[in-house]
Amino acid sequence: MIKMRKGVFRLVSGKLKQTLSLLSIFAILGFAIVPAPAFAGSEDASAPVASAAEAKTEKETEKAKADTPQVSVSVRGDGLSVKWKRLKSARSYSVYRSYRRSSGWKLLKSGVIGRSYTDRTVESGRKAYYKVLAIKAKGKKSHYSEAVSGIIYRVYIETGHGTDIKNIWDSGCIWNGYQEARLVIPVCKATAKHLRSKGVYVYTDAFSGNNRNLKWTIRHVKSHDVSVLLNIHCDYRYAPSGTMPLYRYEDQKELARCLNKGVHKYVKIRDRGLVKRTDLDTLNNTRGYCVACLFETGSIKYDNKLLRTQYNAYGKGLAKGICDYLGIEGLGKR
Ligand SMILES: [Zn+2]
Repeated sequence: MIKMRKGVFRLVSGKLKQTLSLLSIFAILGFAIVPAPAFAGSEDASAPVASAAEAKTEKETEKAKADTPQVSVSVRGDGLSVKWKRLKSARSYSVYRSYRRSSGWKLLKSGVIGRSYTDRTVESGRKAYYKVLAIKAKGKKSHYSEAVSGIIYRVYIETGHGTDIKNIWDSGCIWNGYQEARLVIPVCKATAKHLRSKGVYVYTDAFSGNNRNLKWTIRHVKSHDVSVLLNIHCDYRYAPSGTMPLYRYEDQKELARCLNKGVHKYVKIRDRGLVKRTDLDTLNNTRGYCVACLFETGSIKYDNKLLRTQYNAYGKGLAKGICDYLGIEGLGKR
């Protein structure tokens, strides 16, 4: 391109001279404006005309750019925050969303006065696109912004048992003064911590003393669109040592498989294998809302020390399992 230019220019400047002399004749005759279109039509002289047109387009592009909201999308809390630079003479903004890049746009919110809007209704784990339009005086509108995309993953880590819906403490299984509902808290905390380090939004009752029970959690899951519900337990004193993720349906089985694999990558513990269960609310009552798994982390008796001391590695393994299941870039080595 650059090499060609010189030659073309030389050729054109020759033509230009000719045309200019022609122009002066036309000017004398009072036809100064007339030759211009003829000039544009000439093939040899197309380069300077194109650059003139380019200059015009550039000007128009600049103008259009100044009249187009510049938008960015990032995770904010449990939603996606759409932000834009203030546009001159804008009175308010309208935000549009689609799950496809170039069609299916839906008005999300109009009359936004500030420079951002957080979409908390966006589906978990699904790439969403946003466009912003500025509204000016007399209903005049700016250009639509470019479509900018974002994705949020929401996960619920349910600490087994704990305070129930009637505000009564449910300890789960007990052995030697240890309570299941307390023993699994550090594992849940670690799982949440590692997920958050990967940008996953985590709901959990692990940091508030296991103060939500399963009924509350299921209600929350149904109204907050999460991708995964992980319900963390440990088994009673007569259970043998080892992990035992419980599932009912095929997608749950795949999640269970990922979780088990994740744990065994970071923790040395026996494996009781995946077990199918048809009687659990965690698996039955979340159907169509998220993919769930009830994970039996081990025996309250035989894995007691491991759960008390290796909770961080255990949580990392569970987080890794969720990331693998959701296709989130995996966690690093311990
Ligand atoms: Zn339990």
